[in-house]
Amino acid sequence: MRKRIVILGAGYGGLRTLKRLQRMKPNAALILIDKNNYHCEKTSLHEVAAGTADADEICYSLQQVIDPKRTQFVQDTVLRVVKKTRMILLQNHDPVSYDYLVIGLGFVPEYYGIEGMDRFGLAISDIPSVIRIRNHIEEQFKAWTEDQRSDRLVVAVGGAGFTSFEFLGELTHRIPELITRYQVDAKQVRIVCIEPTPKALPMFNRRLAAYGSRKLRDRGVDFLIGRVCGFDGAKIYYRTEEHVRSLKAGTFVWTGGVSGSAVVRDSGFEERRGRVRVMDDLSVPDHPEILIIGDCSAVIDPGSGQPYPTTAQIALQQADCAAYNVKAMLDDRPTKPFVFKFKGTVCSLGRDDAVGEVMGKGLKGRPASVMKKVIENRSLVKIGGVETMLKKGRFS
Ligand code: FAD
Repeated sequence: MRKRIVILGAGYGGLRTLKRLQRMKPNAALILIDKNNYHCEKTSLHEVAAGTADADEICYSLQQVIDPKRTQFVQDTVLRVVKKTRMILLQNHDPVSYDYLVIGLGFVPEYYGIEGMDRFGLAISDIPSVIRIRNHIEEQFKAWTEDQRSDRLVVAVGGAGFTSFEFLGELTHRIPELITRYQVDAKQVRIVCIEPTPKALPMFNRRLAAYGSRKLRDRGVDFLIGRVCGFDGAKIYYRTEEHVRSLKAGTFVWTGGVSGSAVVRDSGFEERRGRVRVMDDLSVPDHPEILIIGDCSAVIDPGSGQPYPTTAQIALQQADCAAYNVKAMLDDRPTKPFVFKFKGTVCSLGRDDAVGEVMGKGLKGRPASVMKKVIENRSLVKIGGVETMLKKGRFS
């Protein structure tokens, strides 16, 4: 019988794996499963959350990548992988069997058990979540015109990493628009970042991180030092060295961490925060037929001994290796180890401003922003192709 290669998730890792496998023309059926019928450029989610981009600007139909002659697409939510019987359990369809499986189900917000966050927290994770954030901020500004409660105009962000700074950068452009639209008292508006340590952007050196903080501060962002320890929907509680303090905020967006998809834990893989420490060739210990890539996987950086951070960059590179290895297994050839090549990283600070490191060189301001667009366009080409890049790419 014809073998079945199943790919879970049409994100950076999953969709790129599919694209590569379609090109390799394996003698096997390809099945892609995702809950959505579109691919989302998650690295731009913060723009939709802030309201500076619309959802359709950062998404494109899976039909642009799927070759219907080679691939069957199942739109459904994956509940669990049953390793013993090699089955995928889905919410609305019959179970799907596999011979080879690539899991690329991405991330969910990690609240570290902080009280109230699972009930009241807003986080940047997918299209529905960022539309909720955008609408919530706007509703707060609108409601201010009726009750003039100043806390409605406080937008707070928990965490001072990459996602936090990218979102704050966009917010500093969006808030003036909202002030004008709803005629609110600009003096009552506050954008606040609550960070556990004074050094933001841990992936960058002090000089680059300080540039990012300074640019946001210049645009009106207040930085509070403290560890968020609770949120009751109206007040954020954060612990400083001496006290637990609180801040009233109409909006609180958590950017403090992510974990891999809950499907990984629910399927009984050995994991930590939804990430499986994969073998050199990206397979799961004792299950060479299952490969895990992207944010659900942990690959150890030989330099630091720690897992590499979860990024689209590593997911894309893992996808190329996963596709190669699945084809190799089908052809009875040896698999190859995954080797990550760090190409640099650039954090947007909003329109025409960014900070980052590319090929070992620090970049700031407009050159960094141009580089960010180049990286985004390259990612669009890698999965969606040139046509998608021309339609959805960043050029100005
Ligand atoms: P994803 O791209 O998250 O895709 C997962 C797919 O699985 C989705 O299509 C989803 O619909 C599907 N799915 C999930 N659960 C289920 C289920 N149960 N059933 C069916 N389908 C499901 N990384 C960088 O390298 N550079 C950056 O500049 C950068 N900026 C970022 C900015 C922001 C605001 C954020 C939030 C992240 C950023 N990242 C960046 C990180 C990057 O987005 C992630 O590391 C990347 O998306 C992970 O890719 P993935 O393939 O693992 O999964």
